[in-house]
Amino acid sequence: ERRNPNETEFLQAVHEVLDTLTPVLAEHPEFIEGDVLDRLVEPERLVMFRVPWVDDENRVRVNRGYRVQFNSALGPFKGGLRFHPSVNLSVVKFLGFEQIFKNALTGQRIGGGKGGADFDPRGRSDHEVMRFCQSYMTELYRYIGSQTDVPAGDIGVGGREIGYLFGQYRRLTNGHESGVLTGKGTGWGGAEVRTQATGYGAVFFAQEMLARTGDGLEGRRAIVSGSGNVAIYVIEKVSQSGGRAITASDSSGYVVDEQGIDVELLKQIKEVERGRISEYAERRPGSRYVAGGAVWEVPGDLAFPCATQNELGLEGARSLLDGGVRAVAEGANMPTTPEAVALLQQSGVLFAPGKAANAGGVATSALEMSQNASRDRWDFAQSEERLQRIMRDVHAASYDASERYGRPGDYVLGANAAGFVTVARAMLDQGVV
Ligand code: NDP
Repeated sequence: ERRNPNETEFLQAVHEVLDTLTPVLAEHPEFIEGDVLDRLVEPERLVMFRVPWVDDENRVRVNRGYRVQFNSALGPFKGGLRFHPSVNLSVVKFLGFEQIFKNALTGQRIGGGKGGADFDPRGRSDHEVMRFCQSYMTELYRYIGSQTDVPAGDIGVGGREIGYLFGQYRRLTNGHESGVLTGKGTGWGGAEVRTQATGYGAVFFAQEMLARTGDGLEGRRAIVSGSGNVAIYVIEKVSQSGGRAITASDSSGYVVDEQGIDVELLKQIKEVERGRISEYAERRPGSRYVAGGAVWEVPGDLAFPCATQNELGLEGARSLLDGGVRAVAEGANMPTTPEAVALLQQSGVLFAPGKAANAGGVATSALEMSQNASRDRWDFAQSEERLQRIMRDVHAASYDASERYGRPGDYVLGANAAGFVTVARAMLDQGVV
């Protein structure tokens, strides 16, 4: 707290991990003796930089860019870039810190990092977004590389932005080092299923969690927040699995569609037209739009928070419980506040933290890196199967650790413990670095 004043989100993420590690540290005194914790909470490197660009009115704009290279004990730093006005040092550090454990949990050899800028892509033309991405990469390129640090997408950074970023990296470095970014187009080095991976993975994780209790997705109502990359593919996979996702939202409001969200219409509005979720209700008979308000007031069996941090608080958790929720799987990073997590867990709801449930995105990014390194290409079915297997393993690792440290079914403890032990061992092996 003293060292990181005003970094609310970062301190929340650190507390969330450290508070659960007591039983782990009791079994592993070597991690205390090796001062692993003090080193773990300090990023290896952090860069902040000016991003100047020119808008369509020929006015000069200035944003602030970030990249936090948190921990590379397991492999190159890996984690997305977020372009959103709320991005600041605390947000980037919280995301980078979480990423360390998530990446360890995937079983792939990748370290943790994250970056972004306080740029708001909303309402900006393609050319403005391109000029911003080019300026951002003109500074960032010095710090990244396929063996060093491999960024990807996050809020506000999708296929379009990765394309512009990669184009500029290629110009600056006079090479086609495809493994320097993931989430690329499938025609130029991108992996099949990367677009779908985070959302699909969250649903696979929920299925694993439900299966342990003899339950499944068949006929279940799912409440989904957000309408971006993660939300869209959660909705798609829920419906492919026999369930019904009946909501989607953005920062202005939400839609309810009792027939199940029409994924093709949702993709048309969000991915093609880059519109608002309210337009869905205008075009889909039988659905309705609720301005403001939170999606959690709609009753459902399952909930997938897929928008942003701290979007599901105590009030939302109470509404979900009133609506009969049985399982919550976080598609977003830290969307549930600590108080809400505690309430849901105490009430017997199966709770999957983002570190485990949304790890499918970065895991598939690691598969993209492998394909780039070997100049190979896997097809869609093969890639989805790999993703499903990885999510099964992430679930098993989290559940086993929850059992081992005395709280079977506590996936928060399980995911933190499994990820932490892997990273802490690697750090000890590598000496004081
Ligand atoms: P997108 O930019 O594609 O979509 C974000 C969605 O969340 C939009 O619907 C957006 O609405 C909404 N949203 C963003 N900020 C807020 C806010 N402050 N209040 C309410 N709604 C908000 O991002 P992604 O789908 O990629 O990311 C969503 C979450 O998933 C993030 O937490 C991200 O870190 C996490 N994640 C993403 C991964 C990926 O592979 N993309 C991997 C792992 C985690 P609006 O348009 O109104 O802003």
